[in-house]
Amino acid sequence: MSHSESFLPYGRQTISKNDIDAVVEVLRSPFLTQGPAVLAFEQAIAEKVGAAHGVAVNSATSALHIACLALGLGPGDRLWTSPITFVASANCGRYCQAEIDFVDIEPTTGLMSVKALKTKLEASEQKGTLPKVVVPVHLSGTSCDMAAIGALADRYGFAVLEDASHAIGGRYKDEPIGNCSHCAITVFSFHPVKIITTGEGGLATTNSFRLAQQMAELRSHGITKDIQRFERPAPGPWSYEQQSLGFNYRMTDLQAALGLSQLQKLDEVVTERNRQWQRYRELLSDLPVNLLTVPEDVLSSFHLGVIRLTDPDPDHHRYIFEGLRNMGIGVQLHYTPVHLQPYFRKLGFKEGDFPAAEAYATNAISLPLHPGLTNHDQQRVVNTLASLLKA
Ligand SMILES: *Cc1c(COP(=O)(O)O)cnc(C)c1O
Repeated sequence: MSHSESFLPYGRQTISKNDIDAVVEVLRSPFLTQGPAVLAFEQAIAEKVGAAHGVAVNSATSALHIACLALGLGPGDRLWTSPITFVASANCGRYCQAEIDFVDIEPTTGLMSVKALKTKLEASEQKGTLPKVVVPVHLSGTSCDMAAIGALADRYGFAVLEDASHAIGGRYKDEPIGNCSHCAITVFSFHPVKIITTGEGGLATTNSFRLAQQMAELRSHGITKDIQRFERPAPGPWSYEQQSLGFNYRMTDLQAALGLSQLQKLDEVVTERNRQWQRYRELLSDLPVNLLTVPEDVLSSFHLGVIRLTDPDPDHHRYIFEGLRNMGIGVQLHYTPVHLQPYFRKLGFKEGDFPAAEAYATNAISLPLHPGLTNHDQQRVVNTLASLLKA
């Protein structure tokens, strides 16, 4: 196999010399963790997305967990999210012993349907089973209709926790994702397949000082070092207080330094991802596939390049999928509907619960899309797909 015919993953990181130098600099410094880089990274992200506060942690999963805790989610409460997401969007509620439910998707965008959300809220109000937290997921980097969801939050009294793991660098109604105009907390992921990376890492943004402070304490054992906030008189200058049950969810300075360096090319990366998506649109225009729709008031960061086969036959989907994989095209399904995972089936969910999400999973394919992909690679993806669709 020549180099150009190597395996093409659906996503991967791009690491520059500057990124490497930034990490090496931390390795030579006094602090590998809990030093200045984490604070600088938090401030840089908060400033970039226009939020008052940023709390960096070791993954988006951890960020979702402490966000739920800070929002007061607990046993007997309810968290709703989309079935078309990574399992972490739902698991965060389970960590807090809350009950999980899902809101079906809008088929053309793959995003949580606002109509379905409204209908479910109306029914739940009657039954007294309203959610405490709703987690809209910006699938593939495309913002949900946050103004509409925010209006429902005001009407029904739930908190909105945006899972923007895919969406840093994206915009909604010409505002950056993460400025929390329509939500309490936004969460980003810096896993290597995402838009920018820290190896592993996540960050929560909020405009609430109280929520930021709570999350900062929860990420580090529930400890405060702020003497002003001590519940008991400090016996000496060596003191700290553990006031709640927290975790060790801290990000290291090594990770934060990588993130700070990666952040510098965020706009460039998003532009390149948009360019590749437009190119796919042109190259795929004659094939029996639909690309996920991006609403007019959204700039997607295109974490994923999702197409949907027009043939509704699940066997055909499988055939195309396997064919692409066999030819070295690393396509992926984002996602198996979360409610059909064995863990959630054991909680009572079953086939037929969320039909639009289930239909999506029978024809969606994420094509390779990331800054390392060349025009030649894209052409190869499309040619391979075209020959499989004709066969
Ligand atoms: C990747 C991802 C997460 C989890 O991110 P980690 O940083 O790996 O914990 C959560 N939600 C969505 C939608 C994701 O894609």
